[in-house]
Amino acid sequence: MGKKSKVGKTRKDKFYQLAKETGFRSRAAFKLIQLNRKFGFLQQSQVCIDLCAAPGGWMQVAKQNMPVSSIVIGVDLFPIRPIAGCIGLVEDITTEKCRQSLTKELQSWKADVVLHDGAPNVGRNWLFDAYQQICLTLNALKLGTQFLRSGGWFVTKVFRSKDYNALLWVLKQLFKKVHATKPSASRKESAEIFVVCQGYLAPDRIDPRLLDSKYVFEELDLEGKKKSSLLHPEKQKRIKAEGYTEQDIALRNDLAATEFMQAENALAALQGIGSIRIDDERIARHKKTTTEILECCKDIKVLGRKDIKGLLLWWKAIKDEFFKTEAAEEETLVVEESTPKPLTQEEIEDMEDADLQQQIETLADEEQKDLKRKRKKTLKTKAKLHEKMNLNMVIKGDDGPVEEAEHEIFDLKGISSVNELDQMLDIEPDFDVEGEPEQHPKLPKFKKYDKDDKRMDDDANYENDDEPEPSQDEDSDSDYDRKGLGLSDDEGDGSSAKGKQKKKKRGEHPLIKSGDFRDKDTKRQQRVQLWYEKDNLQNIETDDDDEETYDLDNLAKEYKAKGVSVLGETNRSTLTPDTGTLALGKKAKRRARHETDAKESSSESSSSESEEELDGDNAVAGDMSKEPKAKKVRLTEEELALGSLLVRGKKTRRDLVDAAWNRYAFNDENLPAWFVQEEREHMTKPQPVPKELTEEYQRKVQELNVRPIKKVMEAKARKKRRVTKRLAKAKKMAEKIMENADATSQEKAKQLKKVYKKAQEKKKEITYVVAKKHTASRRARRPAGVKGRYRVVDPREKKDKRSLDAKKRREKGSKGKGKGSRSGGRGKR
Ligand code: SAM
Repeated sequence: MGKKSKVGKTRKDKFYQLAKETGFRSRAAFKLIQLNRKFGFLQQSQVCIDLCAAPGGWMQVAKQNMPVSSIVIGVDLFPIRPIAGCIGLVEDITTEKCRQSLTKELQSWKADVVLHDGAPNVGRNWLFDAYQQICLTLNALKLGTQFLRSGGWFVTKVFRSKDYNALLWVLKQLFKKVHATKPSASRKESAEIFVVCQGYLAPDRIDPRLLDSKYVFEELDLEGKKKSSLLHPEKQKRIKAEGYTEQDIALRNDLAATEFMQAENALAALQGIGSIRIDDERIARHKKTTTEILECCKDIKVLGRKDIKGLLLWWKAIKDEFFKTEAAEEETLVVEESTPKPLTQEEIEDMEDADLQQQIETLADEEQKDLKRKRKKTLKTKAKLHEKMNLNMVIKGDDGPVEEAEHEIFDLKGISSVNELDQMLDIEPDFDVEGEPEQHPKLPKFKKYDKDDKRMDDDANYENDDEPEPSQDEDSDSDYDRKGLGLSDDEGDGSSAKGKQKKKKRGEHPLIKSGDFRDKDTKRQQRVQLWYEKDNLQNIETDDDDEETYDLDNLAKEYKAKGVSVLGETNRSTLTPDTGTLALGKKAKRRARHETDAKESSSESSSSESEEELDGDNAVAGDMSKEPKAKKVRLTEEELALGSLLVRGKKTRRDLVDAAWNRYAFNDENLPAWFVQEEREHMTKPQPVPKELTEEYQRKVQELNVRPIKKVMEAKARKKRRVTKRLAKAKKMAEKIMENADATSQEKAKQLKKVYKKAQEKKKEITYVVAKKHTASRRARRPAGVKGRYRVVDPREKKDKRSLDAKKRREKGSKGKGKGSRSGGRGKR
């Protein structure tokens, strides 16, 4: 659909373009334009005959494309609209009169091109129309042969019917080249086609049959057609308006009534005759010889089926009465018309045999076709396989995985409950591999895992597995359950009776396992972690790194090894979010590492942390848990000076830390602001930073602020250069103006003013574009038609500005009025 519309669009565009170029608007004109563009026959022609030319589109195109002095003569059944330099004739192109009119117009001249776009206005049925049109074309060709010069062109429209090829054959006898083409201006669905015949051969003598439609488009199976034409005229392929043939007119083609009555086959007797001559008085006076019958006898050729039947009945009646003895057996024909002859047994058997034979043949045919189809399919598969093998996509002999549906022993489709599954698992093998049945001690299905005396090996088997133990699975996770850490049934091994019962209750399929692939230990550890998160430990600072957070035991050990006491071990409930001593994961490790480093390292200053830790009072004293931020911190001059001291090693970090704390330090909440401020000032020891150092930093900062950056300098220089250039130019202009003796001083002053105004630095103009609702949400784009700098403003801004201006104006107005007259204006009120 998309494609179709696209094509349609391009066609339309093409026509639009064509109309723009040529000034024509009709489809008919476009057709000739396109044909001429392809073959160029009009440019070479001086005389043109346009047959079937009304309303005159083709004539106009011809005139426009032919040389100026050319002549165009148009012929049509209807008057053609007058076109400058063209002659219009109202004639029927099939008539002699038309030929005479054309001869009168052309005198001894010959045409270079004959155009024909005729279409008879009939519209009965397509076949009939097509036939009429092709006959008209042949008539046009006939005129063409009479008026075309040797080497001339004949351009015609033809409907592609079954007679089309016959016409082409005729054209090929008369022209050097025959091109059949369909210009794009011609509708695709139309059967019309254009034939451009190039180089008229102008033979001395043309066989008249070549231009005779009856001969050219003659039906070959006339005999067969004639046979049934009397009783079944509708079965005729085409109703040809042939009229009477020459033979019909030349010979007396009638049949004597007596002869007709004596004929063995009345229908055959009627075939080919023109009329029935009543030559017998008896027949003429017979009551069956009605006026209608007499009328029918006059012209057999025009009779319809009903009339023929009437004639046959009349024939039978007269024959029975007067010509019975001679034609006793002639009845058969009429009987044939009404009742079919009963079939004999033999005939029936023959028919059945034939039927059977036909059926067998059809079946055999179908079988053959099926075989052929299968063979084709196999060959196709083989070819595909071959191709795959060539591409190394398959290995010979490897059929890939095959579905073995027959192995019922592994068929688990039927299992829907645990019982069924157990039954299947408990099935004794039919035979032993070794021959001798092996004696296995009967082990219980489940046994308790006690972590104190049993360990699991790598394959998840108990190390001491051979000792059977009584099943105590009900207690298995009891401890954890009590603490809220128990594994749910589906997390366990799925073998407990309780679990089974629950499963049964829920109606779960025993073979459908949870997609959770974690082992029991991992699950438990994660559950522990979840528990801590869930309960009152929510406030404890957590880390994002899940992998390490659950590894509490290991961490505790690590901390202990490093000499760090883990508060959480002794009393979890005393933890506060601020202290965050139960530091989890990486962070805790990192801090522990820092602590150790601090102990080990003799140098106590750390340059990497200095900036962060110096930022604010709490940086040093309090929150150690904060990650160092990559954010840039703007330090005051004092802080910078302190930093430089730290870097140079004149002050130690320890001094700073010590100074940050006093023994009354605590983190009271909800204190009044004045208290916090005072406490911040007085609770820490003031750090003596040398005044000179601070001043030095202050000076540096000032210098930095004063010194313009490079880019600003450059921009300023550019601006200055531009201004100087403009001024120099203006100066030059001014000099010229001053030198001009013709101008008055007033004019000069005016010009100078203009020049200097131009030389002044122009303020870059900004176009304000009011944002629209539908564009507001989108990415900003340059609005159409806006050049240079622009700013998108909110409609509100516009309104505000307007109201501001209005207000100013009002105020101004009121002031003016106030000055002039005291009786109040609007502003005053
Ligand atoms: N080429 C013409 C133009 O460009 O305007 C349009 C021709 S129109 C499709 C077909 C014309 O054939 C009709 O005007 C019709 O009158 C004409 N026609 C049909 N039979 C004819 C005949 N026997 N003699 C003359 N003109 C005929």
